[in-house]
Amino acid sequence: MNYIYHYDLAAILICIIVGVLFFSKKHFPSRSNRLFLAIGAMIITASVFDVISVYTLNHTDTVPLWLNYVVNGLFFFSFNCTYIVYFVYICLITERSKSKYGKIMQGVSVIALAYIALAVITTPWLKLIFYFEDGVYKHGPLHVSFYAVAFFMLGMCIFTIMISNRKINKMHLITTCSIALISIVAIIIQFIWNELLLVDFVASLLFFMLFHSLQNPDDYLDKELNVFNMKAFLQKVVNLSGKKRGFTVLAFEIEGFQFVDQFMGVESGNDLLEVVVKECMKGKKNDLYHLDGTRFAYIFDKNSKEFDEYADWLKWRFVSAFHVNRVAVNLTARMCKVDFPEVASTREELLNAIGSALDQAKEENSYDVVEASKESMEKHQRSTIITHILKSAVRNKSFEVYYQPIYSIDDGAFTAAEALVRLKDPELGFIPPDEFIPLAEQSGLILEVGDIVFRKVCEFLRSENAKDLGIRYVEVNLSMVQCMQEDLHEHLKATMDRYEIPYHMIDFEVTETFTNSDNRILMNNMVRLIDSGCSFAVDDYGTGFSNTDYLIEFPFELVKLDKSVVWAATDNDKALKILEHTAAMIKSLGLKIVAEGVETFDQVLMLRSMGCDFLQGYYFSKPIPPEEYVEFMHNTATCIKEKLTDRLAMMS
Ligand code: C2E
Ligand code: CA
Ligand code: CA
Repeated sequence: MNYIYHYDLAAILICIIVGVLFFSKKHFPSRSNRLFLAIGAMIITASVFDVISVYTLNHTDTVPLWLNYVVNGLFFFSFNCTYIVYFVYICLITERSKSKYGKIMQGVSVIALAYIALAVITTPWLKLIFYFEDGVYKHGPLHVSFYAVAFFMLGMCIFTIMISNRKINKMHLITTCSIALISIVAIIIQFIWNELLLVDFVASLLFFMLFHSLQNPDDYLDKELNVFNMKAFLQKVVNLSGKKRGFTVLAFEIEGFQFVDQFMGVESGNDLLEVVVKECMKGKKNDLYHLDGTRFAYIFDKNSKEFDEYADWLKWRFVSAFHVNRVAVNLTARMCKVDFPEVASTREELLNAIGSALDQAKEENSYDVVEASKESMEKHQRSTIITHILKSAVRNKSFEVYYQPIYSIDDGAFTAAEALVRLKDPELGFIPPDEFIPLAEQSGLILEVGDIVFRKVCEFLRSENAKDLGIRYVEVNLSMVQCMQEDLHEHLKATMDRYEIPYHMIDFEVTETFTNSDNRILMNNMVRLIDSGCSFAVDDYGTGFSNTDYLIEFPFELVKLDKSVVWAATDNDKALKILEHTAAMIKSLGLKIVAEGVETFDQVLMLRSMGCDFLQGYYFSKPIPPEEYVEFMHNTATCIKEKLTDRLAMMS
């Protein structure tokens, strides 16, 4: 027969080109890669023996019979193996390998392989697949079964892909299915026209397709840094998750790039990242994975000494500076450890655990390895949920503002109130501001939250109900993120103007932590608002570093003693002494004092004797909704005032 073997030659060439492309790059050592290469090897083997068989079949007179059996047998074997390996590959990428279905299918593949091996080996004697009669090649009775096996395996591929369509993306689904379908067509064509040696050529084209869409090493590579990427990391996790002993991930995030980006340009920032990554890899020969941004990870065996050694090495490496364009830059590495499967048993949980532990490391300003735990993960998850709730509350403006009355000792009346934001969720219930305000600050939502709160306060003050309450001002909390807005003063004044609120009706509270921030912007905002008639209070006094410079530097009118300071003085003599001196010092600066967290009559006496001007706390009232607050001011307030006056009179 006149076999057309040129297609086979092209197939060999295509497979070699794919191989060269594949090996020319850093490639991720995964099972899918190994199976992919095995498919290529099978196609080359089948093509080579196909070409050789064209010669040996046409020269049966000179070529020994055994050689013809060997060559044709190897062709049949490798031809079928291509599709068996492809099926195993499909089971792997559809994540079926470890399921019951996958185990059964593995059994089916082994049986198919055994059948083919047995049929090929016994064919010289049993003549089941092919044989030679007077030097002429003839098909045996089971010849067709070879095509049937290939068909069956390809059919199983399509079936597996279809039942696992959620596990692979649409593009991969189309590619893998088309490969199976086109192969079936090619096999039918070759079955009809025996001399057209087409199957391996088609297989090689499909092999290229597979390379291009599923097995391209670039997919697993961060090309800029030449390290593996998140996809590779997740694949590695899947590959390792079957191991009984599990593994440990050391993830780290590098901080401090803003400085370089800001002052030297983003280009230098990228150069620096490259330098840092190279340095980080010096301490370890394993593969480094770039998760995202400036987060990286190494995977270690469980309880390996290497983990501690590397973590120590990394910690010390970051003590000294890194150099970019001859500039020394100091960076920080936050590190965390996650045990798989004890702490995280899926890819999603692992990423969550890394995220939460690194956040924790940042919050705690830790330079050591923070161990991820179920609790830290839950906290992180809750933060994510709350951030979502915040977003929708901002969209729907569904925050509420409660008011906590403030008692003036001099006036013997409730002359002010603090506005406190409230967030309720149908599922989580009441979410404390101490929990969601920091999240709103991190996500930048605080600007909108602050805006909504302030508008609600103005709306309330303008309403008929609030007109005859007899309050002089409302205290409104400002986050430092808000204070860093250059145009904050204009924005706040515009809101007050819109609701026709006199400026002196608003006192803004800012926390002590502001000393870390850009004072210039804060100062400008303060001065502009104070010039218009607003006033300012230092909130949470006594919780920070007790740096009093800002009391001199900034034009505050009020100091709000934090509740912890008040409570400490109630229980502890030394704390009482400190508070006495603190109060005297504040008064001597000409500032007024508001004491928070007043819960008992004894505290009222103590704070009054220290010269505090205003009292705020559960002793008088918790923060309450606007309607209740109006009701409080009209009715309850008088009772409380009278009771207090009586008790104070009895004391004196
Ligand atoms: P803060 O500004 O120090 O507000 C006082 C907090 O102490 C309020 O907690 C109040 O309910 C609570 N408190 C007052 N008196 C007592 C008392 O006698 N006993 C006890 N145990 N607690 C008392 P809340 O409402 O949970 O707010 C917590 C923090 O959230 C506030 O602390 C403030 O920093 C922040 N926050 C609340 N509303 C806003 C807002 O509208 N904007 C901003 N930026 N922060 C807000
Ligand atoms: Ca406050
Ligand atoms: Ca406070």
